[in-house]
Amino acid sequence: MIKKLLLTPGPIELTPAVRQSLVANSIGHLSPTFTTTFQNALNNTKRLFKTTNGQPIIISGSGTLGWDLFGSNVVNRNDSILLISTGFFSDSFASCLTGYGAKVDKLDAIPGHIVPLKTIQEKLQKNNYKAVVMTQVDTSTAVLNDVQGISQLVKEFSPNSFVVVDGVCSIGCEVFEFDNWNIDYCLTASQKAIGAPPGLSISMVSPRLLKYVMNERDTTDQVTSFYLSFKKWLPIMESCIQGKPSYFATPPVQLILSLDVALKELLDATPRGLDERIEKSSKTSDWFKQQLTKELGLKMIPQDPQYTAHGLTTIYVENPADLIKFLADNGVFIAGPMLKSIPPYARVGHMGVSAWDNDNNQHITRCYELLREYCTTKSKV
Ligand SMILES: *Cc1c(COP(=O)(O)O)cnc(C)c1O
Repeated sequence: MIKKLLLTPGPIELTPAVRQSLVANSIGHLSPTFTTTFQNALNNTKRLFKTTNGQPIIISGSGTLGWDLFGSNVVNRNDSILLISTGFFSDSFASCLTGYGAKVDKLDAIPGHIVPLKTIQEKLQKNNYKAVVMTQVDTSTAVLNDVQGISQLVKEFSPNSFVVVDGVCSIGCEVFEFDNWNIDYCLTASQKAIGAPPGLSISMVSPRLLKYVMNERDTTDQVTSFYLSFKKWLPIMESCIQGKPSYFATPPVQLILSLDVALKELLDATPRGLDERIEKSSKTSDWFKQQLTKELGLKMIPQDPQYTAHGLTTIYVENPADLIKFLADNGVFIAGPMLKSIPPYARVGHMGVSAWDNDNNQHITRCYELLREYCTTKSKV
Protein backbone atom coordinates (compact mmCIF):
# COMPACT_ATOMS: atom_id res chain seq x y z
CA MET A 1 0.00 0.00 0.00
CA ILE A 2 1.33 3.45 -0.85
CA LYS A 3 1.82 5.92 1.96
CA LYS A 4 -0.61 8.81 1.72
CA LEU A 5 0.82 12.29 1.86
CA LEU A 6 -1.13 15.52 2.31
CA LEU A 7 0.59 18.39 0.49
CA THR A 8 -2.19 20.97 0.42
CA PRO A 9 -1.69 24.52 1.72
CA GLY A 10 -3.38 23.49 4.95
CA PRO A 11 -4.24 21.23 6.62
CA ILE A 12 -0.74 19.76 6.50
CA GLU A 13 0.96 16.53 7.60
CA LEU A 14 1.22 16.05 11.38
CA THR A 15 4.43 14.90 13.03
CA PRO A 16 4.29 11.63 15.05
CA ALA A 17 4.52 13.65 18.29
CA VAL A 18 1.54 15.84 17.35
CA ARG A 19 -0.48 12.76 16.33
CA GLN A 20 0.40 11.12 19.64
CA SER A 21 -0.84 14.14 21.59
CA LEU A 22 -4.31 13.63 20.12
CA VAL A 23 -4.81 10.21 21.68
CA ALA A 24 -4.20 11.34 25.27
CA ASN A 25 -6.83 10.60 27.92
CA SER A 26 -9.51 13.22 28.34
CA ILE A 27 -8.58 15.87 30.90
CA GLY A 28 -10.60 18.64 32.52
CA HIS A 29 -10.42 22.14 31.08
CA LEU A 30 -9.83 23.55 34.59
CA SER A 31 -7.31 20.88 35.66
CA PRO A 32 -3.77 21.93 36.58
CA THR A 33 -2.37 19.80 33.72
CA PHE A 34 -4.46 21.59 31.14
CA THR A 35 -3.87 25.03 32.61
CA THR A 36 -0.10 24.52 32.47
CA THR A 37 -0.35 23.31 28.88
CA PHE A 38 -2.45 26.31 27.87
CA GLN A 39 -0.01 28.62 29.66
CA ASN A 40 2.89 27.12 27.67
CA ALA A 41 0.95 27.36 24.41
CA LEU A 42 0.08 31.02 25.02
CA ASN A 43 3.66 31.93 25.89
CA ASN A 44 5.02 30.01 22.90
CA THR A 45 2.47 31.70 20.61
CA LYS A 46 4.02 35.02 21.64
CA ARG A 47 7.45 33.66 20.69
CA LEU A 48 6.04 32.44 17.37
CA PHE A 49 4.77 35.94 16.51
CA LYS A 50 7.98 37.54 17.91
CA THR A 51 6.26 39.68 20.47
CA THR A 52 6.72 40.46 24.14
CA ASN A 53 3.85 42.93 24.55
CA GLY A 54 1.23 41.31 22.31
CA GLN A 55 -1.83 39.61 23.79
CA PRO A 56 -2.48 36.14 22.36
CA ILE A 57 -6.07 34.95 21.99
CA ILE A 58 -6.59 31.25 21.22
CA ILE A 59 -10.16 30.00 20.78
CA SER A 60 -12.10 27.29 18.93
CA GLY A 61 -12.56 28.09 15.28
CA SER A 62 -10.72 28.16 11.99
CA GLY A 63 -8.62 30.85 10.35
CA THR A 64 -11.71 32.62 9.09
CA LEU A 65 -12.82 33.30 12.65
CA GLY A 66 -9.86 35.65 13.02
CA TRP A 67 -11.48 37.98 10.47
CA ASP A 68 -14.69 37.99 12.51
CA LEU A 69 -12.77 38.56 15.74
CA PHE A 70 -11.35 41.74 14.24
CA GLY A 71 -14.67 42.74 12.68
CA SER A 72 -16.78 42.28 15.78
CA ASN A 73 -14.31 43.79 18.26
CA VAL A 74 -12.98 46.71 16.26
CA VAL A 75 -15.15 47.68 13.30
CA ASN A 76 -17.96 50.19 13.75
CA ARG A 77 -20.53 51.07 11.11
CA ASN A 78 -19.05 53.37 8.43
CA ASP A 79 -15.45 52.93 9.59
CA SER A 80 -13.14 53.47 6.68
CA ILE A 81 -10.68 50.63 6.06
CA LEU A 82 -7.95 50.27 3.44
CA LEU A 83 -7.61 46.66 2.33
CA ILE A 84 -4.73 45.62 0.12
CA SER A 85 -5.85 42.58 -1.84
CA THR A 86 -3.51 40.00 -3.30
CA GLY A 87 -6.16 37.37 -4.03
CA PHE A 88 -9.14 35.32 -2.91
CA PHE A 89 -8.44 35.37 0.84
CA SER A 90 -7.88 39.13 0.95
CA ASP A 91 -11.19 39.59 -0.91
CA SER A 92 -12.99 37.35 1.57
CA PHE A 93 -11.54 39.33 4.50
CA ALA A 94 -12.94 42.45 2.79
CA SER A 95 -16.40 40.84 2.52
CA CYS A 96 -16.27 39.92 6.19
CA LEU A 97 -15.48 43.50 7.24
CA THR A 98 -18.15 44.92 4.94
CA GLY A 99 -20.60 42.71 6.84
CA TYR A 100 -19.71 44.61 10.03
CA GLY A 101 -20.57 47.90 8.32
CA ALA A 102 -17.08 48.97 7.30
CA LYS A 103 -16.52 51.05 4.18
CA VAL A 104 -13.74 49.03 2.63
CA ASP A 105 -11.47 50.80 0.17
CA LYS A 106 -9.93 47.85 -1.69
CA LEU A 107 -6.69 48.10 -3.65
CA ASP A 108 -6.45 45.09 -5.97
CA ALA A 109 -3.10 43.74 -7.07
CA ILE A 110 -2.72 42.30 -10.54
CA PRO A 111 -2.87 38.51 -9.92
CA GLY A 112 0.62 37.31 -9.07
CA HIS A 113 1.85 40.76 -8.11
CA ILE A 114 1.80 43.00 -5.04
CA VAL A 115 0.21 46.45 -4.92
CA PRO A 116 3.09 48.94 -5.41
CA LEU A 117 4.03 50.76 -2.19
CA LYS A 118 3.66 54.07 -4.02
CA THR A 119 -0.03 53.37 -4.66
CA ILE A 120 -0.58 52.54 -1.01
CA GLN A 121 1.26 55.67 0.10
CA GLU A 122 -0.99 57.85 -2.09
CA LYS A 123 -4.08 56.32 -0.52
CA LEU A 124 -2.73 56.88 2.98
CA GLN A 125 -1.90 60.51 2.23
CA LYS A 126 -5.37 61.23 0.85
CA ASN A 127 -7.62 59.44 3.32
CA ASN A 128 -8.13 58.74 6.96
CA TYR A 129 -8.32 55.02 7.63
CA LYS A 130 -9.12 53.33 10.89
CA ALA A 131 -7.18 50.27 9.76
CA VAL A 132 -4.96 49.04 6.95
CA VAL A 133 -5.53 45.35 6.24
CA MET A 134 -3.37 42.93 4.25
CA THR A 135 -2.67 39.22 3.77
CA GLN A 136 0.97 38.23 4.22
CA VAL A 137 0.63 35.24 1.90
CA ASP A 138 -2.51 34.95 -0.17
CA THR A 139 -2.93 31.20 -0.50
CA SER A 140 -4.86 31.58 -3.75
CA THR A 141 -1.81 32.91 -5.61
CA ALA A 142 1.28 32.35 -3.39
CA VAL A 143 2.04 36.07 -3.46
CA LEU A 144 4.11 37.17 -0.45
CA ASN A 145 3.24 40.71 0.59
CA ASP A 146 5.72 43.28 1.91
CA VAL A 147 4.15 43.53 5.38
CA GLN A 148 7.12 45.35 6.89
CA GLY A 149 7.21 47.88 4.05
CA ILE A 150 3.48 48.60 4.19
CA SER A 151 3.55 48.92 7.97
CA GLN A 152 6.41 51.44 7.70
CA LEU A 153 4.29 53.50 5.31
CA VAL A 154 1.39 53.44 7.74
CA LYS A 155 3.66 54.56 10.56
CA GLU A 156 4.91 57.44 8.45
CA PHE A 157 1.74 58.63 6.71
CA SER A 158 -1.15 57.40 8.82
CA PRO A 159 0.16 56.58 12.30
CA ASN A 160 -3.29 56.33 13.87
CA SER A 161 -4.41 53.49 11.58
CA PHE A 162 -4.27 49.99 13.00
CA VAL A 163 -2.12 47.57 10.98
CA VAL A 164 -3.89 44.26 10.44
CA VAL A 165 -2.39 41.11 8.93
CA ASP A 166 -3.90 37.80 7.87
CA GLY A 167 -1.00 35.46 8.64
CA VAL A 168 -2.85 32.18 8.20
CA CYS A 169 -0.54 30.95 5.43
CA SER A 170 2.63 32.58 6.73
CA ILE A 171 3.01 32.44 10.51
CA GLY A 172 5.52 29.65 11.13
CA CYS A 173 6.97 29.57 7.61
CA GLU A 174 7.70 33.21 6.70
CA VAL A 175 9.70 35.85 8.56
CA PHE A 176 7.26 37.84 10.68
CA GLU A 177 7.91 40.25 13.54
CA PHE A 178 4.84 41.49 15.38
CA ASP A 179 6.62 43.99 17.66
CA ASN A 180 9.38 45.25 15.36
CA TRP A 181 7.01 45.76 12.45
CA ASN A 182 4.39 47.59 14.58
CA ILE A 183 1.55 45.19 13.84
CA ASP A 184 -1.70 45.71 15.76
CA TYR A 185 -3.58 42.56 14.91
CA CYS A 186 -2.47 39.32 13.27
CA LEU A 187 -4.50 36.16 12.89
CA THR A 188 -3.60 32.60 12.03
CA ALA A 189 -4.92 29.06 12.38
CA SER A 190 -3.61 25.81 13.82
CA GLN A 191 -3.61 23.69 10.64
CA LYS A 192 -1.21 25.56 8.39
CA ALA A 193 2.50 26.14 9.06
CA ILE A 194 2.04 25.55 12.82
CA GLY A 195 1.32 21.89 12.08
CA ALA A 196 -1.57 21.07 14.43
CA PRO A 197 -5.01 19.83 13.31
CA PRO A 198 -7.62 22.36 12.15
CA GLY A 199 -9.86 23.89 14.82
CA LEU A 200 -7.98 26.73 16.53
CA SER A 201 -8.18 30.42 15.77
CA ILE A 202 -4.96 32.05 16.98
CA SER A 203 -4.64 35.83 17.13
CA MET A 204 -2.24 38.44 18.49
CA VAL A 205 -3.40 41.88 19.62
CA SER A 206 -1.17 44.90 20.28
CA PRO A 207 -1.50 46.89 23.54
CA ARG A 208 -2.68 49.88 21.49
CA LEU A 209 -5.51 47.96 19.82
CA LEU A 210 -6.43 46.24 23.08
CA LYS A 211 -6.74 49.62 24.81
CA TYR A 212 -9.04 50.79 22.02
CA VAL A 213 -11.26 47.70 22.26
CA MET A 214 -11.41 47.59 26.05
CA ASN A 215 -11.70 51.30 26.90
CA GLU A 216 -12.24 53.56 23.95
CA ARG A 217 -14.55 51.96 21.41
CA ASP A 218 -18.11 53.28 21.36
CA THR A 219 -20.47 50.35 20.72
CA THR A 220 -23.73 52.26 21.28
CA ASP A 221 -25.10 51.59 17.80
CA GLN A 222 -23.34 48.29 17.17
CA VAL A 223 -24.66 44.78 17.47
CA THR A 224 -21.80 42.91 19.16
CA SER A 225 -20.92 39.24 19.44
CA PHE A 226 -21.02 37.52 22.83
CA TYR A 227 -18.71 34.57 22.08
CA LEU A 228 -16.16 36.62 20.14
CA SER A 229 -15.84 39.50 22.60
CA PHE A 230 -12.28 40.36 23.63
CA LYS A 231 -13.85 41.69 26.84
CA LYS A 232 -14.92 38.12 27.61
CA TRP A 233 -11.74 36.39 26.45
CA LEU A 234 -9.06 38.76 27.71
CA PRO A 235 -9.49 37.88 31.41
CA ILE A 236 -9.39 34.17 30.50
CA MET A 237 -6.18 34.49 28.47
CA GLU A 238 -4.57 36.70 31.14
CA SER A 239 -5.44 34.24 33.85
CA CYS A 240 -4.20 31.21 31.90
CA ILE A 241 -0.93 32.89 31.02
CA GLN A 242 -0.39 33.30 34.78
CA GLY A 243 -1.11 29.59 35.28
CA LYS A 244 -4.55 30.05 36.87
CA PRO A 245 -7.60 28.23 35.49
CA SER A 246 -10.49 30.37 34.36
CA TYR A 247 -13.72 29.75 32.47
CA PHE A 248 -15.80 31.61 29.90
CA ALA A 249 -16.51 28.86 27.35
CA THR A 250 -14.95 25.40 27.13
CA PRO A 251 -11.67 25.37 25.20
CA PRO A 252 -10.92 22.52 22.75
CA VAL A 253 -8.68 20.67 25.21
CA GLN A 254 -7.18 18.09 22.84
CA LEU A 255 -6.43 20.66 20.16
CA ILE A 256 -4.60 22.85 22.65
CA LEU A 257 -2.57 19.84 23.79
CA SER A 258 -1.60 19.28 20.15
CA LEU A 259 -0.83 22.98 19.63
CA ASP A 260 1.50 22.87 22.62
CA VAL A 261 3.43 19.95 21.10
CA ALA A 262 3.49 21.51 17.62
CA LEU A 263 4.81 24.83 18.96
CA LYS A 264 7.56 23.10 20.94
CA GLU A 265 8.66 21.30 17.77
CA LEU A 266 8.76 24.59 15.88
CA LEU A 267 10.43 26.67 18.58
CA ASP A 268 12.56 24.40 20.75
CA ALA A 269 13.52 21.21 18.89
CA THR A 270 16.55 22.67 17.09
CA PRO A 271 19.46 24.81 18.31
CA ARG A 272 18.26 27.97 16.56
CA GLY A 273 14.57 27.24 16.91
CA LEU A 274 12.03 29.05 14.77
CA ASP A 275 14.61 30.84 12.62
CA GLU A 276 16.19 27.51 11.75
CA ARG A 277 12.79 25.97 10.89
CA ILE A 278 11.93 28.93 8.65
CA GLU A 279 15.32 28.79 6.91
CA LYS A 280 14.94 25.05 6.29
CA SER A 281 11.41 25.58 4.93
CA SER A 282 12.64 28.31 2.60
CA LYS A 283 15.45 26.09 1.36
CA THR A 284 13.03 23.29 0.51
CA SER A 285 10.72 25.78 -1.16
CA ASP A 286 13.56 27.29 -3.21
CA TRP A 287 14.76 23.85 -4.28
CA PHE A 288 11.25 22.74 -5.31
CA LYS A 289 10.52 25.93 -7.24
CA GLN A 290 13.87 25.82 -8.99
CA GLN A 291 13.39 22.17 -10.03
CA LEU A 292 9.92 22.90 -11.39
CA THR A 293 10.96 25.94 -13.37
CA LYS A 294 14.48 24.93 -14.49
CA GLU A 295 14.08 21.17 -14.92
CA LEU A 296 10.44 20.85 -15.90
CA GLY A 297 9.93 24.25 -17.53
CA LEU A 298 6.82 25.03 -15.48
CA LYS A 299 5.68 28.59 -14.73
CA MET A 300 4.60 29.89 -11.35
CA ILE A 301 2.04 32.63 -10.71
CA PRO A 302 4.31 35.09 -8.84
CA GLN A 303 7.29 35.91 -11.03
CA ASP A 304 9.41 37.91 -8.60
CA PRO A 305 11.16 35.69 -6.01
CA GLN A 306 11.05 38.57 -3.53
CA TYR A 307 7.25 38.37 -3.52
CA THR A 308 6.89 34.60 -3.72
CA ALA A 309 5.67 32.59 -0.73
CA HIS A 310 7.73 29.78 0.81
CA GLY A 311 4.86 27.69 2.19
CA LEU A 312 3.27 26.78 -1.13
CA THR A 313 3.97 26.72 -4.86
CA THR A 314 1.47 27.64 -7.55
CA ILE A 315 2.13 26.25 -11.03
CA TYR A 316 0.28 26.82 -14.26
CA VAL A 317 -0.91 23.52 -15.75
CA GLU A 318 -3.19 22.82 -18.69
CA ASN A 319 -5.44 20.44 -16.83
CA PRO A 320 -5.19 20.78 -13.03
CA ALA A 321 -7.84 18.08 -12.39
CA ASP A 322 -5.85 15.54 -14.42
CA LEU A 323 -2.61 16.34 -12.60
CA ILE A 324 -4.31 16.26 -9.21
CA LYS A 325 -5.79 12.85 -10.02
CA PHE A 326 -2.45 11.46 -11.19
CA LEU A 327 -0.80 12.55 -7.94
CA ALA A 328 -3.71 11.31 -5.82
CA ASP A 329 -3.54 7.90 -7.54
CA ASN A 330 0.05 7.84 -6.34
CA GLY A 331 -0.86 8.86 -2.79
CA VAL A 332 0.03 12.56 -2.93
CA PHE A 333 -2.74 15.10 -2.39
CA ILE A 334 -2.37 18.65 -3.67
CA ALA A 335 -4.87 21.48 -4.26
CA GLY A 336 -6.51 23.04 -7.28
CA PRO A 337 -6.88 26.61 -8.50
CA MET A 338 -8.86 29.32 -6.67
CA LEU A 339 -8.77 32.33 -9.00
CA LYS A 340 -10.87 32.05 -12.15
CA SER A 341 -9.47 35.19 -13.78
CA ILE A 342 -6.11 33.63 -14.70
CA PRO A 343 -5.15 30.45 -16.61
CA PRO A 344 -5.63 27.13 -14.76
CA TYR A 345 -3.10 26.20 -12.11
CA ALA A 346 -2.42 23.82 -9.24
CA ARG A 347 -1.20 24.53 -5.70
CA VAL A 348 1.30 22.41 -3.78
CA GLY A 349 1.58 23.07 -0.06
CA HIS A 350 4.90 22.55 1.67
CA MET A 351 4.51 23.89 5.15
CA GLY A 352 5.67 22.43 8.44
CA VAL A 353 7.37 19.07 8.73
CA SER A 354 7.03 18.33 4.99
CA ALA A 355 9.36 21.25 4.34
CA TRP A 356 11.64 21.48 7.37
CA ASP A 357 12.36 17.75 7.42
CA ASN A 358 12.32 17.06 3.68
CA ASP A 359 15.94 15.82 3.84
CA ASN A 360 14.73 12.87 5.92
CA ASN A 361 11.08 12.36 5.04
CA GLN A 362 11.39 13.20 1.31
CA HIS A 363 7.84 14.56 1.17
CA ILE A 364 8.56 17.33 -1.33
CA THR A 365 11.13 15.25 -3.15
CA ARG A 366 8.50 12.55 -3.69
CA CYS A 367 6.04 15.14 -4.99
CA TYR A 368 8.70 16.48 -7.37
CA GLU A 369 9.50 12.99 -8.70
CA LEU A 370 5.81 12.43 -9.46
CA LEU A 371 5.48 15.82 -11.14
CA ARG A 372 8.48 14.96 -13.29
CA GLU A 373 6.95 11.63 -14.21
CA TYR A 374 3.69 13.36 -15.11
CA CYS A 375 5.43 15.97 -17.24
CA THR A 376 7.61 13.50 -19.11
CA THR A 377 5.09 10.70 -19.65
CA LYS A 378 1.92 12.69 -20.14
CA SER A 379 3.39 15.93 -21.56
CA LYS A 380 0.13 17.56 -20.74
CA VAL A 381 1.43 20.33 -18.55
C1 LIG B 1 -6.61 29.06 4.90
C2 LIG B 1 -6.65 30.53 4.94
C3 LIG B 1 -7.71 31.23 5.55
C4 LIG B 1 -8.92 30.55 6.07
O1 LIG B 1 -8.63 29.67 7.09
P1 LIG B 1 -9.70 28.54 7.50
O2 LIG B 1 -8.99 27.81 8.60
O3 LIG B 1 -9.94 27.71 6.29
O4 LIG B 1 -10.92 29.22 7.96
C5 LIG B 1 -7.63 32.60 5.61
N1 LIG B 1 -6.58 33.26 5.11
C6 LIG B 1 -5.56 32.63 4.51
C7 LIG B 1 -4.42 33.44 3.99
C8 LIG B 1 -5.56 31.25 4.41
O5 LIG B 1 -4.54 30.62 3.81
